[in-house]
Amino acid sequence: MPQPSAPLALQGGSPVRTRPFPSVGSAAGRTLGDEEVAAVTRVIRSGQLNSTVGTETADLEREFAQYYGMPHAVASSSGTAALHLAVAAVDPDPGDEIITTGLSDAGTVLPILAQNAVPVFADVDPLTGNLDPAAVRALITPRTKAIIVVHLFGVPAPVAELRAIADAHGLLLIEDCAQAYLTRCAPDGALAGTVGHLGCFSLQQSKHITAGDGGLTITADPALARRARLFADKAWPRDTDERTHLFLGLNYRMTELQAAVARAQLGKLAGVVEDRRKSAEILTEAVAPLAGLTAALAAGTAYWQFPVFVDEAVAGSNGHRYGEALRAEGIPANGGYIQRPLYLTPLFTEQRTYGMSGYPLTLATAPSYAEGLCPRTEQLITGGGLLVISWNERYTADDVADIAAALRKVHAAFTS
Ligand SMILES: *Cc1c(COP(=O)(O)O)cnc(C)c1O
Repeated sequence: MPQPSAPLALQGGSPVRTRPFPSVGSAAGRTLGDEEVAAVTRVIRSGQLNSTVGTETADLEREFAQYYGMPHAVASSSGTAALHLAVAAVDPDPGDEIITTGLSDAGTVLPILAQNAVPVFADVDPLTGNLDPAAVRALITPRTKAIIVVHLFGVPAPVAELRAIADAHGLLLIEDCAQAYLTRCAPDGALAGTVGHLGCFSLQQSKHITAGDGGLTITADPALARRARLFADKAWPRDTDERTHLFLGLNYRMTELQAAVARAQLGKLAGVVEDRRKSAEILTEAVAPLAGLTAALAAGTAYWQFPVFVDEAVAGSNGHRYGEALRAEGIPANGGYIQRPLYLTPLFTEQRTYGMSGYPLTLATAPSYAEGLCPRTEQLITGGGLLVISWNERYTADDVADIAAALRKVHAAFTS
């Protein structure tokens, strides 16, 4: 006979966990230590806080490029900036289209609009949340200039397929790796960020490594690298001694303080990813017997978060209810990741871009950004298909055991 399930904390039962977990919002869940303190002190004592006079940013760029086995890395002020550098390097004409996903941080799409290009949203794979290559292919038009793929939660996206599609159509592939440091991609284990023409990373507080904010763009193409570098520095070719501006650029420079912290963090990155993977393996095993719940199964996942794909008909409830019940049990989790697909935010639905113009979303060729545009994306975000469990390199075996116990408890209650 099945045991009657324990009363959920949501319904007044006692929670599985009362102590807080290590989280990315505080020192307990970050790897910031003496190395970063020394780095910041070194920069301040040097009196050189700006990358145009100091050496830290150039050193970080060299070290990051080497780390990824790429010839070029360009530092910037945020992950969004890193993506803006990439889009600016692609240099679309106004009205050109860039295909991307509606299931991501807004930083993925804002740079497209900032360059007056049109975001075209392709649907995702329901068991990874990553772009579906067939959906991307179906949206290519003569106006398409590039694809921005996201390795969501650090789960490898099908970049080999997307690169083949890009090459066949003369498009550039940009990889958004903000959540995907050291993610390994099929079929050969290539690092995420090195398969596309450009790879973009974030050093924001919540990522695997952080400098508060910051970004890095990598590429093998010297022309793309030069354009990205110029774009981040007012298109001022400082290497020529001429104070001039070669095209429309901005100031997206990283400070020496950020770069020094990022260099110290880079030394810890492999350990951070290793620790996240080890504890994620344990939870993956715990999720396997829970009918209707599927953990990310791809090898090479970097576990920015721990996504669980929810089949409501079998799991007894949806990702939102699971998230709510887990939070009551003391487990940091949420349903859907973001509240609505990016294309259903006022930026798109009310065309809030440049003054009253609505440009470029008012172009006759622009898609209509409305519910139903990407049904599988919507199923994951608002339809309950996705449960996201917060993840951290500092989780102990006991932490993971508590998460597994809470998941079993909630699953038992929802399926009884
Ligand atoms: C964090 C993030 C960004 C933006 O990075 P910021 O550093 O916050 O600007 C872009 N894309 C994805 C997928 C992200 O997770």
